[in-house]
Amino acid sequence: MKMILIGPPGAGKGTQAKRLMERLGIPQISTGDMFRAAVAGGTPMGLKAKEYMDKGELIPDDVVIGVVKERLSSPDCNKGFILDGFPRTLDQAKALDRILENMESHLDHVVVIDVPDDYLIERLTGRRTCRKCGYMHHIKFDTPKKDGICDKCGGELYQRDDDKEQTIRERLKTYHSQTAPLVAYYTDKGIVRKIDGKGSMEEVEGTIATAVGA
Ligand code: AMP
Repeated sequence: MKMILIGPPGAGKGTQAKRLMERLGIPQISTGDMFRAAVAGGTPMGLKAKEYMDKGELIPDDVVIGVVKERLSSPDCNKGFILDGFPRTLDQAKALDRILENMESHLDHVVVIDVPDDYLIERLTGRRTCRKCGYMHHIKFDTPKKDGICDKCGGELYQRDDDKEQTIRERLKTYHSQTAPLVAYYTDKGIVRKIDGKGSMEEVEGTIATAVGA
């Protein structure tokens, strides 16, 4: 099964993609995770990517498309994949169509997770990520037992630059102007499954599983 998840920042794409990966036994491919790894590794691509990520802007299409093309050519993607955070622009969507055509394949589902902006701002500004294990606490919904310390591994919690309110507002603006138009593009192809993302993780997972027949 080949599918993509579309939704605003904080809609739970990453969490749902990981759950689907376990359910379906196919890889989850998150461009955000790939770029964060490049930033952490201090690679030349990471240094360039960080400038865009810190401002809540999108990394240029040619860079992102190259990274995804290489990843999709790995043998573990033959059976299928879940793309999380890609495509994010119309040009990326068209490039993905070409990549899949060359693989003599096509997308089966485009899951669109719908969540109102206000809800997302509360979710994202409260997120605190562990520097050591990457676990994400929330100051209101998943409060760490000890302030600033990860319950899972004792690592230091911090607020990702792209989770700060100003950046989130920028990321939402970017989403509405550049990524939301993809919904119309895929609706025309008849593969869009719209999901209400306001429920619990389990509820949203159940809705997605039903929609894609997983
Ligand atoms: P995410 O974790 O998916 O929200 O991604 C974090 C940041 O990485 C985004 O705000 C962008 O700066 C960058 N990024 C991730 N995926 C893409 C993409 N498909 N196109 C452009 N930039 C991306």
